[in-house]
Amino acid sequence: MRETNEPLLRTRALSAYYGKVQALAQVELEVHPASVVTVIGPNGAGKSTLLNAIMGLRRTTGAVVYGGKDMGRIPAEQRLAHGLCLVTEGRDLFGTMSVRDNLELGFYSRRREGRERMRAELARVFALFPRLGERERQLAHTLSGGERQMLVLGRALMARPRLLMLDEPSLGLAPLVVREVFASIVQLRREGVAILLVEQNARAALEVADYGYVLEMGAVRTQGPAGQLAGDRRIVESYLGAGSGAAPLRPLIDAPATPDARGMQQPELRAA
Ligand code: ATP
Repeated sequence: MRETNEPLLRTRALSAYYGKVQALAQVELEVHPASVVTVIGPNGAGKSTLLNAIMGLRRTTGAVVYGGKDMGRIPAEQRLAHGLCLVTEGRDLFGTMSVRDNLELGFYSRRREGRERMRAELARVFALFPRLGERERQLAHTLSGGERQMLVLGRALMARPRLLMLDEPSLGLAPLVVREVFASIVQLRREGVAILLVEQNARAALEVADYGYVLEMGAVRTQGPAGQLAGDRRIVESYLGAGSGAAPLRPLIDAPATPDARGMQQPELRAA
């Protein structure tokens, strides 16, 4: 990937309303290629609205600039074709279809690239989530919560996003499964994918992120390198007070990529 200081995504004075209620107020945020940026904040702060606005699913004022291009009039489906992808909770899977069929649906926007390419993408997803490979033929509705979360992530990866936006990927998952999901986020960054992560589990989010924003009542209250935010007394008291009880994620972040996953990387996706 080409070295660049240009952000992959930038929002400028992004505001959104539900009727007369302002849910986002002049939000300015940047995500650089191959980085993890997290947005934390209390319930109702506007985090999901922010992701929906970036994806083009909400009417906004201000601008969303992605890959140097103003996305203003570009509808959500076309934003997906540009490599922008939003993953919400794992409930919108096709329950009566197999894991493999759900994954293949993720390739739909790239179907012209052919079956060979699709098989290569499937192999890449199975390398990242071996559990999905083991359950390839299982129906999606019979998966556990954590496996479903892996499947929605895997399906998103089939479209080969450049920017993956994740809305609460740890919601309702046991600590060990949260670790697995966050490990996959770290792995994706190594492969060059940029990630915008909205999380209630602020502690885990700040551990894997490079940079963080704290959103309160629709506005960016504070921002900074993730390590700095994690050491900020006010943030610790407001968002990190109750220990999650989970094992620290740091060893997982510093660990080298697995040989399997390295083998699956495409040259153009390598982190700079
Ligand atoms: P949570 O962490 O609880 O999911 P959030 O930070 O993601 O919250 P949003 O879901 O973006 O917050 O909501 C921001 C504000 O907008 C809230 O006050 C919410 O009640 C309001 N809101 C969200 N969706 C709608 C809607 N469809 N109609 C009206 N108000 C809405």
